[in-house]
Amino acid sequence: MGLASKRKGRWRYRCWQKLFLALIGFPLAAGVLLVFVAIFRAVFVHQQTQSVLHILNNQVVDKIDESQIMQRAERLAGALKIPSVSYATDNQEKEALLQLHQYLETNFPLIHSASFIKKEVINTYSLLYTVEGTTKGKLPYLFASHLDVVPVDPSTWEVPPFGGKIVNRTYIYGRGAIDDKSGVLGIMEAVEYIIQMGQRPQRTFFMAFGHDEEISGKRGAHELAKILQARGVNRLDFVLDEGFPLSKGLIPGTDKHIAMVGISEKGTVTLELSVTGNPGHSSFPPAESAIGILAAAVARLEENPQPSLLGKGPESATFKYLAPHVSFFYRLLYNNLWLFSGLMAREMERVPLTNAFVRTTTAITVFHGGIKDNVVPPSAKAVINHRVHPSQTVTEVIAYDREIISDPRVRIQVKTSREAHPISPFGLDCIPFQMVIVSIKQVFTDAVVVPAVFIANTDTRWYLSFTTNLYRFLPTVVAPEDVNRYHGNNERISIKHYHEAVNFYYRIIKNADMLTDQVPSSTINNGDQEL
Ligand SMILES: [Zn+2]
Repeated sequence: MGLASKRKGRWRYRCWQKLFLALIGFPLAAGVLLVFVAIFRAVFVHQQTQSVLHILNNQVVDKIDESQIMQRAERLAGALKIPSVSYATDNQEKEALLQLHQYLETNFPLIHSASFIKKEVINTYSLLYTVEGTTKGKLPYLFASHLDVVPVDPSTWEVPPFGGKIVNRTYIYGRGAIDDKSGVLGIMEAVEYIIQMGQRPQRTFFMAFGHDEEISGKRGAHELAKILQARGVNRLDFVLDEGFPLSKGLIPGTDKHIAMVGISEKGTVTLELSVTGNPGHSSFPPAESAIGILAAAVARLEENPQPSLLGKGPESATFKYLAPHVSFFYRLLYNNLWLFSGLMAREMERVPLTNAFVRTTTAITVFHGGIKDNVVPPSAKAVINHRVHPSQTVTEVIAYDREIISDPRVRIQVKTSREAHPISPFGLDCIPFQMVIVSIKQVFTDAVVVPAVFIANTDTRWYLSFTTNLYRFLPTVVAPEDVNRYHGNNERISIKHYHEAVNFYYRIIKNADMLTDQVPSSTINNGDQEL
């Protein structure tokens, strides 16, 4: 072999070597590094000790007495007999709302006769209670809840939906058992008990019970908020409204109950899509009808869901908080969403409930078209309801739809829209958030508490200007088999879980009082840098 061919051979060898490094070596090394970083994070990144925890945990944690469990259950059952249904705007069972006011007055006599509690009826049907604390000069807080319930189809219930039935001394059945009369009465039971014990809260707070949450809250919570503002109450330390209940089995990796505290709320955008065609006789139809064009557009939207945003919004904090409590495999995933979000998103989008955490959802809720069997339809209309992920804007959602539909014959009109709520602070120095965590843990001792995005809507929107500390949580356990009862059939709450709900509200009133004495008022920490 000559010198030239030897050199050529070496050069070829070096080329192969470079190609090997480029194609396999570097990606392999990068892969090894990624795996190393992921394992390091899984092993060493732990949730830090919560600063407020030790202050609150160094107290005697008293609970409400258990001897009145049945009476409390019966009081809730009695409230469930009152059909305070919201059907639509301007269509509510208004007499029932007034009956419910009367019921609360009769059944919570201590609240209604206490000199430090003022009850006001706002806009005829909503209720505002001001509990004047003994300590002046501290920021007040607000419990929000609602008096109305969603409609029922009694034929699909096994028990009368407004029968207020207690079954086997175990479950309280009725529309509103979870959403949200257990909230209204749970809060009132806690306050009634405090007065019964001869006590008075130190810190001032409001109990704001709107009457139309299920149909927007515009006349209830909105008016309640306006009244507070008119009185010069411009700032609140925190607002606690309904939200997710405690659940098991929703997120894999732990068999403990997970308490997801809503730190934001998805936005909404409702679009009307319409296509106008030329009506004519069905014996010589055009190649495409208005219905066909619109159906194809709607089908494209369903086939092409909005992009996955897992790991780009507050749900990354949900997984970081969960990570220390799950097995190594899941800790590896949850601490490394930057690497595994695609994999996890694919798993989560299989189930509608977990899919809602991954992205802006798309629901085709209405479809109208056609007027007669033998007439080519003059028009077709569809309604699309999106729930907007906090990492996306309404404009981005509409732009995506427009691109997917990609048909100028489909007219897109915005019916209503609202951006996702800002993310409330949830860091270690956010005392109200930490206090909510502690209060949950004092009652639900095995629970893992995590910040999360609430996927539905609440009255919270009307209180956004009062504080950045808005939290959404329902202090009751809903078993996986009971999830569909929520706004569905045979809604129920167990007596044990209702007792825990009352206990939670009791603890939060006690804990809020303690914090005013021992630690400074809350600071704002927006973001997850403290995790
Ligand atoms: Zn509700």
